[in-house]
Amino acid sequence: MTNYDIIEKLYNEKNLSDEELMQLIQTSEYDKKLFEKADSRRREIYGDEVYLRGLIEFTNYCKNNCYYCGIRRGNSNAVRYRMTKEEILSTCRKGFELGFRTFVLQGGEDPFFTDEKICQIVSEIRSKFPECAITLSIGEKSRDSYRAYFEAGANRYLLRHETASEAHYKKLHPHEMELENRKRCLFDLKEIGYQVGAGFMVGSPFQKAEDIFSDLRFLKKLEPDMIGIGPFISHRDTPFEKYENGSLELTLRLIAILRLLFPYANLPATTALGTIHPQGRELGLKAGANVVMPNLTPVEERKKYLLYDNKICLGEDSAQCRGCVERRAESVGYRVVTSVGNAKRPIEI
Ligand code: SAH
Repeated sequence: MTNYDIIEKLYNEKNLSDEELMQLIQTSEYDKKLFEKADSRRREIYGDEVYLRGLIEFTNYCKNNCYYCGIRRGNSNAVRYRMTKEEILSTCRKGFELGFRTFVLQGGEDPFFTDEKICQIVSEIRSKFPECAITLSIGEKSRDSYRAYFEAGANRYLLRHETASEAHYKKLHPHEMELENRKRCLFDLKEIGYQVGAGFMVGSPFQKAEDIFSDLRFLKKLEPDMIGIGPFISHRDTPFEKYENGSLELTLRLIAILRLLFPYANLPATTALGTIHPQGRELGLKAGANVVMPNLTPVEERKKYLLYDNKICLGEDSAQCRGCVERRAESVGYRVVTSVGNAKRPIEI
């Protein structure tokens, strides 16, 4: 089949054979058509609405040592910080006043934040902002921990699987980290009742088309509510400092494929995408993304949460970021909204 026909089929059937999917991942010939189809599916389901998530990077301590990540424990050049519960709450307050109705608490895997502390933070946010979604993105935990956070009031969880291929996973992580456990976490989270977000980096070192194919098939099994992808970007103080960044073109193509495979998923146009190209996030929206995640982290801490080099928006405060993404979304024909932004499910349509 030609790519043209493959895109038509994907649009109509929301799936492809293995061969067709591999072909689409690897060829750019009809990208323009692919983006148009993805945008039309996106508009059918989410209209021109762009959902906002307020990102709060509350700790950059991490006990893990992922080869790609700038806040890995082995990076002794990282200047470490933790926000206090009061700082986190006042950041939420500011965010709320700016119209944010989702707070994403993201951090390294920091043992200082015990389950008890996380639950206290979550339940205070829950009681002060009852109509808001609370998203956690704090890595791999036990099922009991996930349950405790859920009972405290968290309702979404972001945990990118990073790569669904066993061999590739081993090349990105030290031996003590297991893909099996990351997958277990995702299924536990789902079972507990979270809206779950998975995802992967595009163009991470050693990634092959086959690995991306496995990512897409794994996502079909998981059926997450959110899928976050962004280009790999090297960080100078990591073992991957010399590896090339992921490409804009492939990231956009994959966003579009994801929109057509998962019409109802929330797909963010990520900060990493905005970092490799000045209009990366706008292009992401045009290729099928429907979420942006402006940074609410206070500027002093923000400068230290460096997962990769040249991260954007380090100097602006949360109000400026809010205004900036609003203008960017409007410049390409979309509209930022302040609703809580749950993933739509066929039943709600
Ligand atoms: N500790 C949490 C949060 C990790 S940071 C967790 O384990 O889920 C959030 C995401 O940033 C990661 O899942 C990874 O996909 C991405 N990331 C990390 N380093 C990166 C890099 N160098 N380039 C691009 N994305 C990166």
